[in-house]
Amino acid sequence: MIFDHIWDSPAPSKVIAFSWQLLHDRIPTRSNLAVRGILVADVPWECVGCVGSVESSIHLFLHCPSALKVWYDIFRWLGLVIVIPPSLFLLFEVLRASARNVKIRKGFLLIWHATIWSLWKARNGSIFANESFAPNDIVEEIKVTSWKWSLARLKVPPCMYYEWTWDPGDCLLR
Ligand SMILES: [Zn+2]
Repeated sequence: MIFDHIWDSPAPSKVIAFSWQLLHDRIPTRSNLAVRGILVADVPWECVGCVGSVESSIHLFLHCPSALKVWYDIFRWLGLVIVIPPSLFLLFEVLRASARNVKIRKGFLLIWHATIWSLWKARNGSIFANESFAPNDIVEEIKVTSWKWSLARLKVPPCMYYEWTWDPGDCLLR
């Protein structure tokens, strides 16, 4: 069951908790706030990553053209060819199932959490700090964040940042 697997990653616990809430659609996106009757005047209804779409969890993290670009770039980085599935649950499962062994799987899950976290941070930066929501910058952030977590939390010999950006699979198998 997915809810056992989601904790099976060395990401920081607050980040794993956020991913868990996201998979249950319990994060404060614009559409979730509206459903609960909470109107926040300074939070726009529109997704920060595109034009004309309401910000829902599934949109912001999966279907938005900006989010799709991030996922495609991340999968290319991991050497995976993946058809984007219709839900975040399935995306999580597809990523898990793509790992050839336990070490790679832990690394892939770390990168999953880094991707979710970086998308949310970039969304908040865009709304609350007037920063840009740029897929290329988000991908860089994911690589840096997952590399730092891998150094601190994965029981593998440390690798250099350039090695991690070149081939995380090679770092994970050392
Ligand atoms: Zn969008």
